[in-house]
Amino acid sequence: METTLRGVGVSHGVAIGEVRHMGTAVLEPPAKQIPAEEAEREQQRARQAVEAVAADLTARGNLAGGEAQAVLEAQALMAQDPELMADVDRRVAVGSSAERAVYDAFAAYRELLANAGEYLAGRVADLDDVRNRIVARLLGVPMPGVPDSDEPYVLVARDLAPADTALLDPTLVLGFVTEEGGPTSHSAILARALGVPAVVALPGAGEIAEGTLIAVDGSSGEIFVNPTEERRAALEAAAAERKAALAAATGPGATADGHKVPLLANVGGPADVPAAVEAGAEGVGLFRTEFLFLDDSKNAPSEEKQVEAYRQVLEAFPEGRVVVRVLDAGADKPLEFLTPGDEPNPALGVRGLRTLLDHPEVLRTQLTALAKAAEGLPVHLEVMAPMVADRADAKAFADACREAGLQAKYGAMVEIPSAALRARSVLREVEFLSLGTNDLAQYTFAADRQVGAVSRLQDPWQPALLDLVALSAEAARAEGKSCGVCGEAASDPLLACVLTGLGVTSLSMGAASIPYVRAQLAKFTLAQCERAAAAARAADSADEARSAAQAVLSGE
Ligand code: PEP
Ligand code: MG
Repeated sequence: METTLRGVGVSHGVAIGEVRHMGTAVLEPPAKQIPAEEAEREQQRARQAVEAVAADLTARGNLAGGEAQAVLEAQALMAQDPELMADVDRRVAVGSSAERAVYDAFAAYRELLANAGEYLAGRVADLDDVRNRIVARLLGVPMPGVPDSDEPYVLVARDLAPADTALLDPTLVLGFVTEEGGPTSHSAILARALGVPAVVALPGAGEIAEGTLIAVDGSSGEIFVNPTEERRAALEAAAAERKAALAAATGPGATADGHKVPLLANVGGPADVPAAVEAGAEGVGLFRTEFLFLDDSKNAPSEEKQVEAYRQVLEAFPEGRVVVRVLDAGADKPLEFLTPGDEPNPALGVRGLRTLLDHPEVLRTQLTALAKAAEGLPVHLEVMAPMVADRADAKAFADACREAGLQAKYGAMVEIPSAALRARSVLREVEFLSLGTNDLAQYTFAADRQVGAVSRLQDPWQPALLDLVALSAEAARAEGKSCGVCGEAASDPLLACVLTGLGVTSLSMGAASIPYVRAQLAKFTLAQCERAAAAARAADSADEARSAAQAVLSGE
């Protein structure tokens, strides 16, 4: 019998196939006592396993490239953490086997993270993955992870570690479903980068039996377990229709009546550029430069290294617009040499622009590298700061850009409600706004973006979030300046129409979403988008807002 489950759709498309579960068995090695004379050999074994796993993660990263590479490299560093290794050595010295010592040392570290609050939930999943890999290697058993299968399947997991999503083969993995994660978690961002349909935050996904036929609708967030023939036919027809619409829509982003809405790409570095060009991105709306900084937890990348990476991205869009975000360190992206280690609430602490204002030399090097990278190129360079709270922040950033002699437009990200509420004041100092709806939702609803349990509040259709978008866009219009969206909200085709109706002037998203957004936008006039936006804002919940906008646009 067909049953329907509902999660959060985070990557478009329909996938129909059999379920394969991720190998997540927790490998608990027996707690046997080893003789003292074996301690040195065991310590050696542990070190070799750690090095092999770190090398494997780095190799996977090289293969995957882009944002995935930076995440995998961060995991490789985690594996080699000197304090963890010292703890492993200590445990072996008092009689633990290598595998048990690794298991216990990671468990102790995990507890530390867990007790530090929920902020580090995403990193806990990464840490567990690293531990499982090292323990599996020491025990000589298969690595946990993506199942071995020659037949295409739908992957079901509790949560997907970056190491796994990076290696998903889109020809074998038809789609994926996770119990945890939210619309803005790393897994969701990586799924969209891969172009695989995905649904996250689906409680009970783990209970669907191996081999069951399911249909995943990555747009609506619905999962049909044992779908009927009619359901499959309807989903397949809808997917085919969408594909045909995608193929028909080409060129710059615009509504049906020609109101232009540039469609830009979110990139993490040069490796993401080819997909952006292929998707017809009109430029880059968010270059997340922090991925360049994750290679080395102790030092900033040299000016030369930065110039090279920036130049590669700038050259790919010779006449286009490239919006570079300066380093956004802290909270879920801590950097050892910059981020304070003892904050009770890292997401509310020194992160984003606050970190850079405390370390002006890091900002200066980045801005100087950008100026050098753009030298002689016709590109329209724009630079923006993450986590701007008020006019003083915006001024401090603009001053730093001027001091570095940067020929670019300076902008502020709107990620904190105060910046949206006082957008006109922020705009006295900068030339554009860019809405980071992922963090803006996190701070508006006090809902950690890494925690699946609060994903309802992370839904960018929440009318309160739409109000803040509208306030920012109205302020920009009043000042004759632009206001784009670069958070994940821009990648939802229906919401993209609503954002346009709210007055947003450009949309930036993962490359795989661009064709969907372009096709949807081309179906409606600006006036229709405005009516849909007004209907969504008049709603009392995210679901109502979505339905109200849908009703307006489908003429119901
Ligand atoms: C955002 O917060 O919406 C954003 C675009 O920045 P990031 O996802 O990198 O925090
Ligand atoms: Mg952000």
